[in-house]
Amino acid sequence: MTKILIVEDELLIAQGLARKLVKMDYHVVGIVSSGRDAIRHVDDDPPDVILMDIVIKGDIDGIETARQIQSRNNIPIIYLTAYADDETLERAEQTGSYGYILKPFKEREIHAAIKMALKKHQEALALQASLSAIQSLSDEKSRQLAIAAHDFRNPLSTIRMSAEILQDYGESLDAERQTECFERIQGAVSTMNNLLEDILVLSHTEAATYELCPQQVDIVAFFEDMIHQFALAIQNTHHIQLDAPQSCPIVILDERLLQHIVLNLLSNAIKYSPSGGTIHLDVTHEQDRLTLSISDPGIGIPDEDQHLLFQRFKRASNVGEIQGTGLGLSIVHQAVELHGGEIQVESKVGIGTRFTVILPCDDALA
Ligand code: ATP
Ligand code: MG
Repeated sequence: MTKILIVEDELLIAQGLARKLVKMDYHVVGIVSSGRDAIRHVDDDPPDVILMDIVIKGDIDGIETARQIQSRNNIPIIYLTAYADDETLERAEQTGSYGYILKPFKEREIHAAIKMALKKHQEALALQASLSAIQSLSDEKSRQLAIAAHDFRNPLSTIRMSAEILQDYGESLDAERQTECFERIQGAVSTMNNLLEDILVLSHTEAATYELCPQQVDIVAFFEDMIHQFALAIQNTHHIQLDAPQSCPIVILDERLLQHIVLNLLSNAIKYSPSGGTIHLDVTHEQDRLTLSISDPGIGIPDEDQHLLFQRFKRASNVGEIQGTGLGLSIVHQAVELHGGEIQVESKVGIGTRFTVILPCDDALA
């Protein structure tokens, strides 16, 4: 039943109106005669519609009361009036009026005005909801763009510096130093490429436009190649130990998603563990599933943070000065989900972390 509050200082008129409303199956939750009482009533028990006389007792009139109510509660208000000059009507308009009912009241008019007000209100709410959804989507996009721009700065300045060294001293550098510069440039380019890919994958998987692209993947070759690329990019600060049986078959997987998974987990293992440490990458294949486990001897993740890390922009409380955007694991999570797999984390602060990913896959030769 629609709950209606009547704000009217002439009691007889208010009671007559209430009787008509009850006959039309509305629930009259109260009759008040001043603006202040109306505001109090709305705060205690908000009605669905307010019928508001413009000229009422007390220090604020109906229009000012409506303005104050609307600044705190989103409730449609219909004005009751015997006559109104243009100036009053204009003030009423400015409060976003949902209509007028002229005195003396006719049942049909009251009914039509209330129905119309409720409908307009529903439409306004729906519009507001879609506007705020669009707004938060666009806030999210700007945030991602800002992050991307920020993360591109480091590799770009590496490229600029290495290029300047090569330009200014190229001739006089020995072969080893030249190779170092080129490798630094290549490492930075691949960092930027990965970042770009991450952002694209994230926006595709979120918009559900990512199309799974299963293809034959030679598991051992794939991991050896990834580790080789990594070693170049990190300039051998860590040792990556691959343990994959040579008997690993060729399986059917989406290679791009697999790359995102491994790339992000490996880069975390490296980033959050001390230089010189060894990262273990174990791969096993049984029947129709592939299991990867990546473990590091790093800073670990506090228990209370572990369940949050697959959400975007969430980082653990113990990262200290280590830079990051909190996007990597959310990409891993989405990639694993798209693949119908699962991911687990085991970690102890100060001891290390192990991520295990299980992906269902078909054996290409089966
Ligand atoms: P980026 O988006 O650049 O990857 P990030 O590494 O901070 O930034 P995620 O990869 O999503 O973001 O990881 C989220 C958080 O999980 C990290 O900030 C860190 O707190 C924690 N974390 C992830 N992997 C490890 C790990 N191997 N050891 C310790 N903490 C980790
Ligand atoms: Mg990361």
